[in-house]
Parts: sequence; structure tokens; C-alpha cells
Amino acid sequence: NYALGPNVSGWDEQRRRWLTQNQGFPATVPGGKPRILLVTGSQPGPCDNPLGDHYLLKSTKNKIDYCRFHDIEIVHNLAHLDKELAGYWAKLPLLRRLMLSHPEVEWIWWMDSDALFTDMAFELPLSRYDNHNLIIHGYQDLLVEKHSWIALNTGSFLFRNCQWSLDLLDAWAPMGPKGFIREEAGKILTAYLKGRPAFEADDQSALIYLLLSQKEKWMDKVYIENSYYLHGFWAGLVDKYEEMMENHHPGLGDERWPFVTHFVGCKPCGSYGDYPVDRCLKSMERAFNFADNQVLRLYGFAHKGLESPKIKRIRSQTTKPINDKENLDVKAKMPTTS
Ligand code: UDP
Ligand code: MN
Repeated sequence: NYALGPNVSGWDEQRRRWLTQNQGFPATVPGGKPRILLVTGSQPGPCDNPLGDHYLLKSTKNKIDYCRFHDIEIVHNLAHLDKELAGYWAKLPLLRRLMLSHPEVEWIWWMDSDALFTDMAFELPLSRYDNHNLIIHGYQDLLVEKHSWIALNTGSFLFRNCQWSLDLLDAWAPMGPKGFIREEAGKILTAYLKGRPAFEADDQSALIYLLLSQKEKWMDKVYIENSYYLHGFWAGLVDKYEEMMENHHPGLGDERWPFVTHFVGCKPCGSYGDYPVDRCLKSMERAFNFADNQVLRLYGFAHKGLESPKIKRIRSQTTKPINDKENLDVKAKMPTTS
């Protein structure tokens, strides 16, 4: 039977002891917020389409910017830590490894390479999650009543660094090994989940299946979030950015100014996807520039339009940048959530 690694038990106690013995590496950041590690990754080799690599770079730049503004550490992984779990399953062994290697991290946050931060000011309402260990975007009714395969989205979610999360990863992994197991598991998932096309087992369907089939065991500690876009499906958002800029401001995170825009079904790096590559690339360019405007603004620039990599100056330069607040700390200039 497949396992992610040797069974770890008593992790909460081990971690607590480590934190007491290593006071130089606290589980909070200066200012007192819990320490968060954002983890993303992409395939080890080049994209089939070179434009795919360009958008991977933009997506990584976007994540670095968000993390820089919010005191979040970031990891970009290119390796397949377990070759059985290649592709979208690669996040499971990676998350486990990082939790065990970084006891100082309180929350570990997975984000797909095809998801962009589109609200640079929004902050996770972490205090809301004090009693939960897995935070994921989705809808309770789609999950419990409809058994929908899109009830939850595994493109952006957070795990608390604790024994519960390690156990969940262990319970989640067995459908992942590529080849026969993944193919056969795919049939079970398609039969069980509403709307799921026939294909090999994917991590998202497997998580939904696990949470439904062992509700009592896990659901108490799962927070299904939809009051803001921890994950936001791109197709309904990318054409409304101009309207949002007209009527709203960053920091809202919901449909007025989506926190994350995720390009589900677009595969600009690989060769097959559910949407035309041109539409995906154009939409990704729009999302990137929409977000990048929030960064460039701090330095006095903006994109000429959401479809243009070119920029223009939006403030005149002065001879006394400090007096004129040109060099204010970028964080102080970020619009806030409150
Ligand atoms: N991924 C990875 N290594 C790989 C292939 C994929 O880390 O070898 C990650 C990558 O971040 C990607 C995610 O797995 O975004 C999930 O795949 P994808 O976004 O293509 O699936 P979708 O969101 O479209 O269902
Ligand atoms: Mn994705």
C-alpha cells in the first residue's frame, strides 16, 4: 500500500518542543501574525510552448510581490519529490516535506502556478480559522448535497502545520500513484462525483471524495471559505477588471476585487487544455497587469492598459522624494482591508 513516508506521530508535541528550544525561530512574524509559507511549483522541464514559461515567470513575480507586502515566505518547487506523484499530485509530498522541515511555519499555503494574486492589499482573515486546520475555497451545498467535483478547489488552500494535516495528507495520497492505481481510482471518482469527466484520479476529486466518505473524521476541522476569492475562477472575472477599477478598490477580495484569479483548465505550458490557448494567454496578461498596476502604483507607474506590458508614469518626480513621500515604505502605501 502506498505511503507518503514513514508514519509520523506526536507531531504537535514534537513541534511544540522544537519551538521552545529554538526561540530564535518563532511561529509568528514580527508584528505577531502567524508565520505563513506560500508554496507553489511547476514541472521540472521547459514548457511545450515557450510563452508558457513566460507566464510561469510572471506568475512567480506576482506571488513574490504579494508575499513581500505581507511578510510571507515563499517556496517555488521544480522537483518531483516522489515520482509516483508527478503532475498535480506533486503538491502532497511537497507539503508534507515542508511541514516537517519547517516547524517554525504555522500555516502552509499551496497556490497553483496558474493562479495569480489580483488583490495585493487583501489579507487572510486568519483569526477566523483558529479552530480549523484546512482552509479551502468551496461551497458546502455543492459538496454535501450535490457531490460536485468542483465543490472545492485545490488550486489555493492552507494547512495548519499539525498532526491532523499530516494525517489528512496520508489519507489523501493513496489514489495518486501514476499508472494503474491513478487510472482505476479515476473511474471510482467519476462514478461518485457529479459532473466529473472520465479521466485519471486528480488531487481535487480525491480530496472531495475523502471528505465526503469520511465526513465525521475530517469535516470539523475543514473551513470551507467563500466570503472572498481564496480561489476565483478566471472566466467570470477577467473581463470585469475595468469595471472593478471604476467602482471599487483593492482590499476587498471578493467579486468586487477578487483576491485570487485562477486559470483552471488553461494549460499554456502543456499542449492540451479546455480553453483556446489565445484566450487563456490574453486573460492571463490582463490578470497579471491588473495586479501589477497595484504594485507599480507604489513607484509612480501604471500599465497603459490591461493588455499592455508597456507602462506610463502616473506621478511627476520631485527633488525631495522623502519630503514628498515618494519613498514611503511600500506597505504603508498599500490600501488596507479595514
Ligand atoms: N504542478 C507542479 N509540478 C508539476 C505539474 C504541476 O508543481 O509537475 C503544479 C502547478 O503549480 C499547477 C498545479 O500543479 O498549477 C495544478 O495543475 P493545473 O493548474 O494544471 O490544474 P488545474 O488547476 O487546471 O486543474
Ligand atoms: Mn490550476
